[in-house]
Amino acid sequence: MTTPAPLNPPRRILMGPGPSDVHPRVLAALGAPTVGHLDPYFIQVMNETQSMLRHVFRTANELTLAVSGTGSAGMETCVVNLIEPGDRMVVCVNGVFGGRMADVAGRAGAQVTTIERPFGEVFSADQIAEVVRRVQPKVLGIVHAETSTGAWQPLEEISRIVHDAGALLLADTVTSLGGVPVEVDGWQLDAVYSGTQKCLSCPPGLSPVTFSPRAVAAIEKRKAKIASWYLDMTLVKNYWGQDRAYHHTAPINMNYGLHEALRLVLEEGLEVRIARHKRNHLALKAGLNAIGLNYAVAEGIQLPMLNAVLIPSGVDDVTVRKQLLAEFGIEIGGGLGPMKGKTWRIGLMGETSSPRNVLLLLAALERCLTDQGATVQPGAGVAAANAFYRQA
Ligand SMILES: *Cc1c(COP(=O)(O)O)cnc(C)c1O
Repeated sequence: MTTPAPLNPPRRILMGPGPSDVHPRVLAALGAPTVGHLDPYFIQVMNETQSMLRHVFRTANELTLAVSGTGSAGMETCVVNLIEPGDRMVVCVNGVFGGRMADVAGRAGAQVTTIERPFGEVFSADQIAEVVRRVQPKVLGIVHAETSTGAWQPLEEISRIVHDAGALLLADTVTSLGGVPVEVDGWQLDAVYSGTQKCLSCPPGLSPVTFSPRAVAAIEKRKAKIASWYLDMTLVKNYWGQDRAYHHTAPINMNYGLHEALRLVLEEGLEVRIARHKRNHLALKAGLNAIGLNYAVAEGIQLPMLNAVLIPSGVDDVTVRKQLLAEFGIEIGGGLGPMKGKTWRIGLMGETSSPRNVLLLLAALERCLTDQGATVQPGAGVAAANAFYRQA
């Protein structure tokens, strides 16, 4: 065959549901010299990564590491380590990722009970209390930030209810970590997974996870072998812990990337970063509202890093997204499931969350909407966002 041309990816502005824009320092770290997976240098990188992950997860959990695989691998890791065949697990489904977790739990042999909310809504404490009373599960799984809908699920009260019932709380923080508060110890979350390519702004490839002492005790008490060899934390922890026993070859350079991405989070400061996500979200929202776009999720549960807005009638979803990509290099996401064709998902995750991107998107969207025949007051979106930034 003839050799294909060398890679020359376009420069995009990633304002979709992930991946998000990656800082040049993280891209440079990915290209640093590969060392062996037991090299003292790499072991130091692993140790520092674990410390930084504990910092961003706000936990002292010993069992905190980066699973080799994307966010979904983190989901599988948490489920297969906690669940033995026949265990009862409740999964809260209000979007695509809750649905995925229920599927994973069933494959792991759990006796799964799902409770549901329509896409875009969140679960009330009462609903959780009712289901744990009725089912008496070993584990309750829930998504903190439903990227498929833009809804922000409060966890603190739910955690109390789940623990009072003697169950473990498994939380998906793939999109929330680094963008809104995630208090693993403060809220007593037991098994938590995240991803690198959302608010941590690293390319996809690793999944930070953390397990509470209570979760570790449940793993140690298991009778059945963990169904996945690759994701078995009792084996993986011997590589990330003192023994350094070979399990699988860690993706060395991906871990370099995560190390640098976490350094950027620490340099900025977690609280400052969270405040930045909120500020840019509020500016975007002011601008979107000014050009007639409304949020698909109720006030009070809108995620700052994932802005789901209703597509105005008469405006074509795909045409606008294609125009944004082709003319402005901006990627935004379409709706999923019942929201397909009805919403856009505008991400302001990690590096992407900046005034520059907010103002650019508002200007570009005005062009696209006007080309679609929508009536938009010229400049209204940018003006509203600028007004917000000036007074904030
Ligand atoms: C992106 C995402 C996942 C899946 O992560 P992948 O990296 O795509 O495997 C899981 N849960 C949520 C909430 C997500 O946003």
